[in-house]
Amino acid sequence: AETELLERREHSFATVQEHYFETPPQIERGWRHHLVDTRGRGYLDMLNNVTILGHGHPGLGEAVHRQWQRLNTNSRFHYASVVELSERLTGLLPAELDTVFLVNSGSEAVDLALRLAWAATGRQDVVAVEEAYHGWTYASDAVSTSIADNPNALASRPPWVHTVAAPNSYRGRHRGPQSRRYAPEAAARIRELADQGRPLAAFVCEPYYGNAGGMALPDGYLRQVYEATRDVGGLCVADEVQVGYGRLGSHFWGFEQQGVVPDIVTVAKAMGNGHPLGAVITRRDIADAYRTQGYFFSSAGGSPVSSVVGLTVLDALRDEDLQTNAREIGAHLKDRLLELAERHALIGAVHGSGLYLGVEFVRDRESLEPATEETAAICDRLRELGVIVQPTSDRQCVLKIKPPLCLTRRSADVFADALDDVLT
Ligand code: PMP
Repeated sequence: AETELLERREHSFATVQEHYFETPPQIERGWRHHLVDTRGRGYLDMLNNVTILGHGHPGLGEAVHRQWQRLNTNSRFHYASVVELSERLTGLLPAELDTVFLVNSGSEAVDLALRLAWAATGRQDVVAVEEAYHGWTYASDAVSTSIADNPNALASRPPWVHTVAAPNSYRGRHRGPQSRRYAPEAAARIRELADQGRPLAAFVCEPYYGNAGGMALPDGYLRQVYEATRDVGGLCVADEVQVGYGRLGSHFWGFEQQGVVPDIVTVAKAMGNGHPLGAVITRRDIADAYRTQGYFFSSAGGSPVSSVVGLTVLDALRDEDLQTNAREIGAHLKDRLLELAERHALIGAVHGSGLYLGVEFVRDRESLEPATEETAAICDRLRELGVIVQPTSDRQCVLKIKPPLCLTRRSADVFADALDDVLT
């Protein structure tokens, strides 16, 4: 029956949207950080950065059910929950970020962020970092420079998109302490564009480097690049879709780790715990500038049900102290992974913070030759042992570890032990 469903999927569903694994388990239900397939096999879900609270969260399910029975409607009606959610979001951000747009996904949020920057500056040029992913809609796709997510990234890049080097401190142009050179180079590129008569509307970047496998940006990177951007009159967009909401453990937002305040912040994924919900939070003057573009309206963005989801997720994050759990369990897991790196030469580096970790596999610790095939084989073998995790980065040689933030110490150990077995 499983094979038959896979065949039906191939006939009815776009195959360009690939599924995890050649022969994927057919997932039937989930509970906290566990998934169960139709054969009753359980898996540890080390992958799912969307369901930040975990699967099957009872409080969320009940809140959605109650709201659906009471009211759901398009977001141009006036009701309390959309106001409450906007206030909660601005309350979590520096005071100048006081205005919220609600949308349905991360792609939409990044798209809107760029449109806001275009409207507020009257310019179009945007600077993004190489090897980034920001979404699939027109503007978000244009700044998605990752070859892994978009093999045609270079060919499809519109002339208003400019890039600076991937600020990767493990591999790339500058390594280790030398990685402090990425920021002045990016700043110089931003000034050069302005000198050439193409001053930028926005600089867009994840405040913690997601696509490279969950890696901190070099110290001071955003401070220097934001300064250069503002010097030429551009706006700074922080894409928090993947790293925001406490996943990093140390901070609620990624930009806080860099000691900067963006002009525009994008959020999605965790914000709805899997329900389609995203937001752009910005300053009132930037939000108001969008009027020059005309009209903004998203039928379901911030609908009564979506807003209740957003509020309930924030309540649960706070009440269950999930950021603290991300910090503590993440630190424990990172220690375990670093210990594995001492015994297994295939591990080149362990990246990340909180429950946003990456294990980078290399064939050689000097040349850093990516162990791409090995990483795929490790994921397949882990799956047989009941752990779901997948590769990331343009080289597909980093295990991206982004479990629900309710992960327990015991499950972190189960994962580390399984990885130890597979590598042995
Ligand atoms: N920005 C970042 C950093 C992302 O990781 C993603 C999704 N992987 C997006 C934007 C796009 O979000 P969505 O898939 O919800 O459209």
